[in-house]
Amino acid sequence: MVCRNRSFAQHKSDYLFYEIAQKKEHLQKQEPRAKLINLGIGDTTEPLCLPVTAGLVKQAEALGTRGGYRGYPSSFGDKKLRDTIAQKLYQGNVCADDIFISDGAKCDVGRLQHLFGPDTTIAIQDPSYPVYEHTSYLSGKAGRVDRLQMDPENNFFPKLTAADVIYICSPNNPTGVAYNREQLKQLVDFCKKNGSILIFDAAYFSYIRGDDFPRSIYEIEGAQEVAIEINSFSKVAGFTGIRVGWSVVPQTLCFDDGSSVQADWKKIVTTFFNGVSHLSQAAAMAALSDEGLQCAKEQCDYYLNNCRLLRDFFLERKFRVFGGVHAPYLWIDLDGKKSWEIFDYLLQKAHIITTPGVGFGAAGEGYLRISGFCSRLDVTSAIQRMSATSL
Ligand code: PLP
Repeated sequence: MVCRNRSFAQHKSDYLFYEIAQKKEHLQKQEPRAKLINLGIGDTTEPLCLPVTAGLVKQAEALGTRGGYRGYPSSFGDKKLRDTIAQKLYQGNVCADDIFISDGAKCDVGRLQHLFGPDTTIAIQDPSYPVYEHTSYLSGKAGRVDRLQMDPENNFFPKLTAADVIYICSPNNPTGVAYNREQLKQLVDFCKKNGSILIFDAAYFSYIRGDDFPRSIYEIEGAQEVAIEINSFSKVAGFTGIRVGWSVVPQTLCFDDGSSVQADWKKIVTTFFNGVSHLSQAAAMAALSDEGLQCAKEQCDYYLNNCRLLRDFFLERKFRVFGGVHAPYLWIDLDGKKSWEIFDYLLQKAHIITTPGVGFGAAGEGYLRISGFCSRLDVTSAIQRMSATSL
């Protein structure tokens, strides 16, 4: 018999979405005619923009010709796509050679764990996107993960403690807040002083409005020496099903022995990954055209407007509400009530699915995450239904 990988045995399963699915199934059995509205998902709902579908079709047709056929894609991504991301999304702040195209930010969060040995200490935000913790556990770092407490009085900026690797997400899932320039400078300086590597998840950068909040960690001086940025087209242009993301691993980032982090990252990418499909990369190029970018902005505005309507409802009901302005999530303070209690209430009384904040970490207890990723009709119907409850 083969011995089970201890890292897997130590990993506690992700009960959150399983439990939500169970409760949903139970309700549907009890009330088969109930029309559920889902305000709980982190998945986009609006169709792809025309420039993107046109790019996909053009590439598909080209692949069917002798001249246009291509086999394996480059493991690091098409040069043209890397150049375009550097120019259009980083305004030249980042060098194209430091950009590595991937099949999504989540996949890179997993692969990045190979950079760090089992003795590496990890710090993650509490609450946070669960994948940072789960990949740390599955890669043998259980017991080495510290959770950084965040509270509303400090705009959910974590109390920083020294760790080898620090995960920060801004704009944040689940709290929906974005960090400002001073906060990110503090973060970069902290990592520099402590010799930490910062893994900065900017997957929601395209929801930032105005100039007060950086869209990339590389807008902060010194970040090139401490930070890896992970990013994605998923929430920017509805690519959750197309699968294109990227990571920036700067040449200037080193381990304590002076060796290059980028050199090791290249080894990981070429060993564990065989590149993103030509179709997906063509779609990403189309999303970066002027029309594609305009269309993507309009889609993000659509989800943000969903948040605005939902936010107004909860504010009217005298809840403390965070987020939803520079991110597609609202983080609702339940005023002493438990996350699952209000989840169950909304499911039973209004047939609305939300996400209990406690599912993102202990500090999320007493909060509910509401997602703007849904249709306008769902938002208005949900508000009508919730208005009829005693929420
Ligand atoms: N990072 C954060 C913070 C997310 O919320 C998500 C998805 O919900 C991802 C990464 C995953 O992105 P991708 O679809 O590119 O894998």
